[in-house]
Amino acid sequence: MLQGKTAVVTGGSRGIGRAIALAFAEQGAEVAIVATKCSEAAEAVIAELVAKGSNARLYACDVSDPEAVTRVMAQILTDYGHVDILVNNAGITRDNLLPGLGESDIDDVIDVNLKGTIRVTRAFIRAMAKQRSGVILNISSVVGLMGNSGQTNYAASKAGVIGFTKSVAKEYGRRNIRCNAIAPGYIATEMTAALGAEKSEEIAKQLPLGRLGRPEDVAALALFLASDAASYITGEVISVDGGMYI
Ligand code: NDP
Repeated sequence: MLQGKTAVVTGGSRGIGRAIALAFAEQGAEVAIVATKCSEAAEAVIAELVAKGSNARLYACDVSDPEAVTRVMAQILTDYGHVDILVNNAGITRDNLLPGLGESDIDDVIDVNLKGTIRVTRAFIRAMAKQRSGVILNISSVVGLMGNSGQTNYAASKAGVIGFTKSVAKEYGRRNIRCNAIAPGYIATEMTAALGAEKSEEIAKQLPLGRLGRPEDVAALALFLASDAASYITGEVISVDGGMYI
C-alpha cells in the first residue's frame, strides 16, 4: 500500500507514534522516526521497523527548537531524497487547573504540540509542493474538539492544530497535498498511564465502546488517511475515541 513512500513520524519512539510507524512499515514504507533523544525505546522501535524491511532511521530533534527542526528535517530530505507522508504526532501534557498553570506549562505545551506541528510541516512543505504530492496527518485530540477541565493549555494547543490542518489543506490542495487531523480519545499509552488504573477503568466504563483505545486503533486510521484510498479526503478531523465525543 505504501511501497516506495517515505514517512516521517514525530514522536515515533513510543505510544501512538510507534504504532503508526509500524503500520506504515508493514505496508512497505521507509520510516524516519523523530524523537527528543536516541533512547533505548526509540532504538528498539527502529529495530522493529528494520525487521519489517523498512529502511528506518532515528533522528533526535526537539520539535520546540526551531533551528534543530530546520536542520534535522533538511537532513531527512537529504537522506531519503523525498518525504511523502508526514505525521505530526509529538506531543506533551502539563495538566493543571487554570490558576495553577505556570508560564512554562502554557509555553511548553503550545511550543511542542502546536508550534512544533507548524515548524515541522513548514520544513517539508516546499519539497512536497515541488513533487506535487504529499500527505500530512496531524495528531490533535478529542479534547481539542470538546475541551476538558484541567487541560486548558493542552486543549488550546490541540484546537490550534485543527485550525492549522484546515488552513494547510486549503493552501496546498492544488499541489495535491492532503492534510487531515486525527482526534484520538483516551488511548492507553505512557501519556495516559499517569492517571492510574482505577481512573482509567472509570473512564472506560463511561465510553460507549466500554474500553480504552489502543495505539493500533489510531494507527489503522492513520494508515487509511495516508493511503490512496483517502485521496479525496482533506481538511477533515476524524475522531478515534470509542464514542467519547458523541
Ligand atoms: P507518549 O507520551 O507515549 O509519546 C510522546 C512521543 O512524543 C514520544 O515519542 C516523545 O519522544 C515525543 N515527544 C515529546 N516531546 C517532544 C519534542 N519536544 N520533540 C520531539 N518529540 C517529542 O504520547 P502518546 O503516544 O500518548 O501521544 C501521541 C500524540 O497523541 C500526542 O500528540 C498526544 O497529545 C496525542 N493524543 C494522545 C492521546 C492519548 O490518550 N494517549 C489522546 C489524544 C491525543 P521521547 O521518547 O523522545 O520523549
